[in-house]
Amino acid sequence: MILENSKIEIHKNLIRQIGSVWGEGLTLGRHSADDLANRFGTPLYAFNAESARTNLVRVSKSFGDNVGILYALKANPNVSIGRIFRSLNVGAEVASAGEILIALKAGFSRSSIRFSGPGKRNEDLIFALENRIGAINIESEREYEKICELARFSDYKPVLTLRVNPKGGSSGSRMSMAGKSKKFGIDQDRILELARRISTENVCELEGLHIYAGTQCFDHFAWLKNARDLLGLANELERFVPIRTLNFGGGFGVALFDGDPEFDLDSAGKGLQAMIAEDGKPERKYFIELGRYLVANSGVYLSRILYKKKSFDRNHLILDGGMHHHSAAAGIGAILRRPFPIVSAKACSSLVSEEVTLGGVLCTPADEFASGLSLPECEEGDVIGILGSGAYGLTFSNILFLSHPSPAEVLVDGEDARLIRERGKIEDALSGQVFSVLGQEGIS
Ligand SMILES: *Cc1c(COP(=O)(O)O)cnc(C)c1O
Repeated sequence: MILENSKIEIHKNLIRQIGSVWGEGLTLGRHSADDLANRFGTPLYAFNAESARTNLVRVSKSFGDNVGILYALKANPNVSIGRIFRSLNVGAEVASAGEILIALKAGFSRSSIRFSGPGKRNEDLIFALENRIGAINIESEREYEKICELARFSDYKPVLTLRVNPKGGSSGSRMSMAGKSKKFGIDQDRILELARRISTENVCELEGLHIYAGTQCFDHFAWLKNARDLLGLANELERFVPIRTLNFGGGFGVALFDGDPEFDLDSAGKGLQAMIAEDGKPERKYFIELGRYLVANSGVYLSRILYKKKSFDRNHLILDGGMHHHSAAAGIGAILRRPFPIVSAKACSSLVSEEVTLGGVLCTPADEFASGLSLPECEEGDVIGILGSGAYGLTFSNILFLSHPSPAEVLVDGEDARLIRERGKIEDALSGQVFSVLGQEGIS
């Protein structure tokens, strides 16, 4: 049975996980959100390193020493966040040459980097081969052929894994990326033929299999079923080619919205450990790869109230931040538009004195974080925090829209609070633009 949380429980959990006390002002451990906002300015992403570490420790306890953990950098590609995980023996799951660069800068060893993505460009592949990363996770036959062409000019034998698009069943995820016709992965029916081809042609080394069925998965039974199917497939293939690694993906859900359940981490971990024991292959390596689950609850997006106004019968708060910094919190990419957990930095509690519509700084009605939101009485200049913003925040946002500067990012760790991304400047609005004079001679 999957138990659903109420909105208040979800708020309380996130408040605690980021290092605050319910009913008091918003803090990240020893740093109050107000102090961080004063010191680093707003809008600001603030992350608590201790929360990220706690998440990682929970995952490794549940899954045991046999399962390697990879951090999916796209959830939060800040180098300093990557360093937290690298120092805890985690590998990196990347999806572009840029993310390989970030992973290397964060100190991940080349061999611990694994590269997925259905649209790897020549540039990405060349960069991956030059850096001799741990494995390229291929998603089509054509991608394999391209890698072969590129590898012919080097003395390096690329290490490949195959991303499997399984035959069917449920991913258990809010956003599914497998089990039917998809741009991701290679259909299960074609895996055997491709595996034999790779081993016959002998240009690349086939190392193992991978599955990633979707994100925001709350159903550990569905997740374990996919893992079991991948193990089954591996053992079928092993009659023809050795399968040395299995990557079971991740996508574990984080409760953000009213009614979201908790992902049952312990049952997922125990279930996988039992399968691995049954598999009985001590030489095989097993991985899971997580983004959101490791960082979502470690971050908050802070912005200040610029204006308070009443329109018709409603109170509006207009913030100095908006959807250009945090598209996900404005419902972009979601099937249903629902508000993230939002609190006043003065008092994160259920003490309510007004209902407001919370809008961002942009000139579009899409830039709205909540309507009918209950908050303690707020004034202009007060800081508002959007919880659950450590994953898919800035990285998922349409930062160029309306040419506002990008937000700063700060990482809190015990006594320490330091800037990990500089705030953008007004001049950035021109960055990269080439000023054409076609048909406009005389204008400078
Ligand atoms: C995005 C992604 C992940 C991480 O997903 P989360 O839902 O953030 O855990 C893992 N693996 C692959 C292949 C991905 O594309």
